[in-house]
Amino acid sequence: MRIILLGPPGAGKGTQSERIVERYRVPQLSTGDMLRAAVAAETPVGLEAKAIMESGGLVSDAIVVGIVADRIEEADAKNGFILDGFPRTVEQAKALDAMLAEKGIALDAVVEFVVDEAALVGRIAKRAEETAARGQPVRKDDTPEVFKTRLDAYRKQTAPLSDYYAGTRLLRKIDGMKPIDEVTGDVTTLLDSFRETASS
Ligand code: AMP
Repeated sequence: MRIILLGPPGAGKGTQSERIVERYRVPQLSTGDMLRAAVAAETPVGLEAKAIMESGGLVSDAIVVGIVADRIEEADAKNGFILDGFPRTVEQAKALDAMLAEKGIALDAVVEFVVDEAALVGRIAKRAEETAARGQPVRKDDTPEVFKTRLDAYRKQTAPLSDYYAGTRLLRKIDGMKPIDEVTGDVTTLLDSFRETASS
């Protein structure tokens, strides 16, 4: 099972990833999580990425492609993975294609969460509130101002990936506005069909 989850920030990629990880036993490769870990550890990548992430912009393709290339080599990703938050530009998608071709492996699907962008600002505000209520630190890029910049980056740099993958027939669209459990049901139905195809 090798899939990409595509969709704007706040579309539910992280939540659905957790559920896919449990059901299909493949790791979630979230570039956002990897970058946040690098920032916390103050690695050279983290130091370079910190300010860009806090402003809501995109970290350079070279950095992100580098960390994914390393991560994909790890043993737990051998039989599959969920890419969450990567690729985010057409350049990154092309680099991923080259990476996978070199390894002789292919993607099963690109699952795009289609959402009403106007509703996302509210969702993110809720995520920040809930995180704070749990006593956990709130992401610096979950403020309404920075979130708008992230949404802009999505529209300009990431949304074109939908056409890119539609051209490869990998794209599957899911209604991300349904209640979380229903979205999980739709994702599961879709991914089960790939698993059956793979094992038949
Ligand atoms: P996320 O957790 O996916 O919302 O990512 C948080 C932030 O990390 C983004 O706003 C970007 O600054 C950075 N980031 C994560 N993934 C990528 C990527 N594939 N390309 C560029 N920047 C990224």
